[in-house]
Amino acid sequence: MAKCPVCEKKYKKENAIVLEAGQKRNTVHFTCEVCQMASLVFVSQSQAGTVGVGILTDLAKSEVKNVFQKEAISADQVLNVHNFFRNYKFIA
Ligand SMILES: [Zn+2]
Repeated sequence: MAKCPVCEKKYKKENAIVLEAGQKRNTVHFTCEVCQMASLVFVSQSQAGTVGVGILTDLAKSEVKNVFQKEAISADQVLNVHNFFRNYKFIA
């Protein structure tokens, strides 16, 4: 599971918003419950496994959905993302 790059508190799924869910790439917005820093995490699958790259963002979760403006994500795709989290390594 991903952790906050600032205070290293582990993120919870409740604090995650899936912005993009695809076969090879997922984008998730996290808000840290401790320091309130928000980050965008890009999760991709490669031959080496599942890799996540996190960047800090100024976008609050209410704003970030407007930026991405994606259509609703299906339950299948959300399941897909949950599978990603199982083997997740965080690189900040
Ligand atoms: Zn934090």
